[in-house]
Amino acid sequence: MTIQQKIEQLREELNLHTHNYYVLDNATISDFDFDMLLKKLEKLEQENPEFFDSNSPTQRVGGEVTKNFNTIFHKNRMYSLSNSYSKEDLLDWEKRIHKLLGTDDLEYTCELKFDGASINLTYENNQFVKAVTRGDGFKGDDVTTNIKTIRSIPLSLKSDFVSTFEIRGEIILPLDGFEKMNKQRLAEGEEEYKNPRNTASGSLKLQDSAEVAKRPLDCLLYQVVTSERKYKTHFESLESARKTGFKIPQTILLVKSINQVFDFVNKWDSKRHQLPYETDGVVIKVNNLQQQEELGYTAKSPRWAIAYKFKAEQVSTVLKEITYQVGRTGAITPVANLAPVQLAGTVVKRASLHNADQIEKLNIRIGDTVFVEKGGEIIPKIIEVDFMKRPENSEPTIYASHCPECQTELIRTKGDAKHYCPNEFGCAPQITGRIQHYISRKAMDIDGLGGETVDLLRKEGLIQNYADLYDLKVEQILPLERMAEKSAENMITGIQKSKKIPFEKVLFALGIRFVGETVAKKLAKYFKSIDNLMTASFEELINVDEIGDRIAQSIIDFSSDLRNIQLINRLKVAGIQLEVSQEDLENQTDKLQGKIVVVSGVFYQLSRNELKKAIEDNGGKVSSSISKKTNFIVAGDNMGPTKLIKAQDLGVEIISEQDFIDKIS
Ligand code: AMP
Ligand code: ZN
Repeated sequence: MTIQQKIEQLREELNLHTHNYYVLDNATISDFDFDMLLKKLEKLEQENPEFFDSNSPTQRVGGEVTKNFNTIFHKNRMYSLSNSYSKEDLLDWEKRIHKLLGTDDLEYTCELKFDGASINLTYENNQFVKAVTRGDGFKGDDVTTNIKTIRSIPLSLKSDFVSTFEIRGEIILPLDGFEKMNKQRLAEGEEEYKNPRNTASGSLKLQDSAEVAKRPLDCLLYQVVTSERKYKTHFESLESARKTGFKIPQTILLVKSINQVFDFVNKWDSKRHQLPYETDGVVIKVNNLQQQEELGYTAKSPRWAIAYKFKAEQVSTVLKEITYQVGRTGAITPVANLAPVQLAGTVVKRASLHNADQIEKLNIRIGDTVFVEKGGEIIPKIIEVDFMKRPENSEPTIYASHCPECQTELIRTKGDAKHYCPNEFGCAPQITGRIQHYISRKAMDIDGLGGETVDLLRKEGLIQNYADLYDLKVEQILPLERMAEKSAENMITGIQKSKKIPFEKVLFALGIRFVGETVAKKLAKYFKSIDNLMTASFEELINVDEIGDRIAQSIIDFSSDLRNIQLINRLKVAGIQLEVSQEDLENQTDKLQGKIVVVSGVFYQLSRNELKKAIEDNGGKVSSSISKKTNFIVAGDNMGPTKLIKAQDLGVEIISEQDFIDKIS
């Protein structure tokens, strides 16, 4: 066997196991053996780079980072669906179709409507080419690198399906995977994700594809789009796509009458909560493709399909108690503790009450019977109080006046919906929360130290703030429960490593209220050091692009607190990056100040990301689409043809990579 054959054989074998596991849910190899095969392939590919294939199983782990996702026009528009909410709506729809087609001899497919993010996959010559989000239906974002990490999507097809086609489906996050992610988030001291759908669609736009690879995303497909007339019906095309390796849900049903559609709807309205993922309705489609074509489209949606939306399930239960949670910034969230009740497949015990205004609006009291609904969010909502059932002796709810954790009197500033506990430095959840934020991935990214350990360290009195981390010694943490020598050392190493984290991330890590990632970047670039920032006046602060009164005031408050000044001094002594590094400074100019720049094509001297960073470092803004506001385009080889035409139409200047380098140096 030649090396090439060996490589191909390994790829095929791995693809088969992946398909069995992720599509058929039927493992045919142990994880260990799979990894061994994958390693073998990796090694062969490394030694023989001439056989590189971007669709090889080795390319699924991610790693490529995308700063700005390219906009791509869909070859075929991605329509929405018209909605229906009752059987009458469905009967009306059927009547319209009968009339338009002049026949009542029809077949329908019934499918579940999956609640995720729609995606359009393109295949050419049996190879996966690209994945684009629905966007506005005409154009979406190119999320190919991220989508490739989803194992149930085949990258290279085995059989003779259609050779060039698009296939559409929904990227979803199964419920158990979602719960696992949230458990981990909590353990890391981060806020839970609200619902699987937003988390799924957010995942597609993560910049680091290796991060996407870690998420348990799945892809369910529901439509084949091709100009080849190989299949007569929608059902047939999906069955065939399934044989080719795509994950087509088994729940699809072919029916011959609208009554059978009703049966399908009824069955799944109650059974849907047993499914491993969320659905919000049923999609009914005319099965015959010729008839679909005849029916065509309205301005927004196909006439040959309609969605039937399930009603959100509601139950009533009793409000037992209102408790108050304290977040990292001291924000207070009231929580309704309910008599446990079964709702949409889970037992509900708690619901968020958001803030004092919400409590007032609902006019809710302890002992009240309330209606609870699970909408788009995993945390159920209280819809209203059943006043008929209000107990006679009930008392109006009085909002907490003091912090449940530290008994400090709560404050509420004008225009703020939330109450706050102002005891920043003495309130346990705030102390822990701030350190957990400091060590989190987007901030100081400290390996070897997790959210639970932070809590433990604080309880043991070993740390009170983030500066204390740098004084920790192995001997101090070893006696802690479940702390092995190796993990203690890892923790200390991780903490020491954070001294290399650049200033903009440090600034975010400090946890100044309203200073998120983007704001921290802006401030770091403008002020260049913590000293400049902390001595800046209010006027100076609001002068910075996109910094408003609220952020400015928060920075002033932070900077004038002696305790913060002391903390910053300790971080300085510890060697934390509290100013922009010399190297970064040298690369920063105002040469492109206020310029909006589009990057397109393939580059040789700089990577795409380096190019974008260079634009930002020199004061410019990178935009992904060309408009009248674009100042110039840096074009590499193979600039996209639509971009080229648009640039010429608008008369936007196009410069080469070399021109750009000359411009900034
Ligand atoms: P809407 O966003 O309410 O207009 O509904 C249209 C969306 O439903 C499509 O863009 C798909 O993302 C989604 N969808 C989920 N399941 C299906 C399905 N089985 N067939 C067609 N569309 C579906
Ligand atoms: Zn408190």
